[in-house]
Amino acid sequence: MSIEVRNLRKAFGTFVALDDVNLDVPGGELVALLGPSGSGKTTLLRIIAGLEPADQGLIRFEGEDTTDRPVRERQVGFVFQHYALFRHMSVFENIAFGLRVRPRPVRPSDEEIRDTVMGLLRLVQLEALGQRRPSELSGGQRQRVALARALAVKPKVLLLDEPFGALDAKVRKELRRWLRRLHEEVHVTSVFVTHDQEEALEVSDRVVIMNEGRVEQSGTPEEVYERPATPFVYGFLGDVNLFHGRIDRGRVKVGASELDAPEWAEARDQAGVAYVRTYDVELTPSSSGRSSIETIVRHIRAFGPVIRLELDRVEDGGSVEAHLPRAQYDKLGLVKGQRVFVSPTSVRVFAGPADGSAARIA
Ligand code: ADP
Ligand code: MG
Repeated sequence: MSIEVRNLRKAFGTFVALDDVNLDVPGGELVALLGPSGSGKTTLLRIIAGLEPADQGLIRFEGEDTTDRPVRERQVGFVFQHYALFRHMSVFENIAFGLRVRPRPVRPSDEEIRDTVMGLLRLVQLEALGQRRPSELSGGQRQRVALARALAVKPKVLLLDEPFGALDAKVRKELRRWLRRLHEEVHVTSVFVTHDQEEALEVSDRVVIMNEGRVEQSGTPEEVYERPATPFVYGFLGDVNLFHGRIDRGRVKVGASELDAPEWAEARDQAGVAYVRTYDVELTPSSSGRSSIETIVRHIRAFGPVIRLELDRVEDGGSVEAHLPRAQYDKLGLVKGQRVFVSPTSVRVFAGPADGSAARIA
């Protein structure tokens, strides 16, 4: 079932938590809502679920306005960060709960309930643990039970609010792969909230990046990562260097260096910031032209396949981070204190900082 969010606005007192939010979730897709803490993700999810009214705007499920639909008629499944399992019930009964509490005329028989629950236990790979209590499970297992419980009532939409947020990093990684595979099996339209960039990019068909109650960009993981639409998205997804300078006739002057910015051919001496991903740089022992920035090696983290270097710009002491494949690093033979020239190989220039947002990322 598709979800459309149109011009949604929500304020708490004078604080605007959602500001003209628009969103499309195609039926059967898994969409990640990604943003820093406080950006409005939970508020948006609660409004989609019908747990909270919006001040303005509307939400359509499969083209139909849900504004006057009560929560239980929306057929939404919810999974929260803190496993809200019933402690006194077995895993089996936790999953069966939503079916057992149905009014008698629409309640499945005991046998149907057993079949459904056993099927779900298989789906979440907990077949052998149906008789355990939640307290006898690991955190990751509990979240899988919470998911099975949400799926038991055959929701049309599944909403997950930081479902793996309370788990340690290794379990999170396992569960995100598991969720991806599960989604490929059941294909229920899902909105997955997270503040973890890697999790969002790895799990979802589409990512919606939120900041301060607004949608900054939405697209496939490739689109948002490779072509960030705003300075915020650039800084939020992946490591990036910021070079403040002046844009003039297709170039940005950063101190004594000049970077090409062909999309700014018409600009005449205005403030701008050049964004350069940490791996989009070339390091050379001597200057390789006017785009070279002279630096001194301050720190080297020489483990793993990618070597991370912290460099100080000679001109103003500003910091530059460079990530190099090990083979390139070995060839350069860099040591701490050495002089090296940095040439950006891919640059994206935004005007500003007009509102200070670019400066904040630095
Ligand atoms: P996120 O889930 O992205 O961390 P939330 O949607 O929970 O963000 O919150 C967005 C903003 O709205 C936060 O600044 C939060 O303090 C505020 N907020 C959320 N719910 C309420 C509420 N019931 N009353 C007042 N402020 C709220
Ligand atoms: Mg939240």
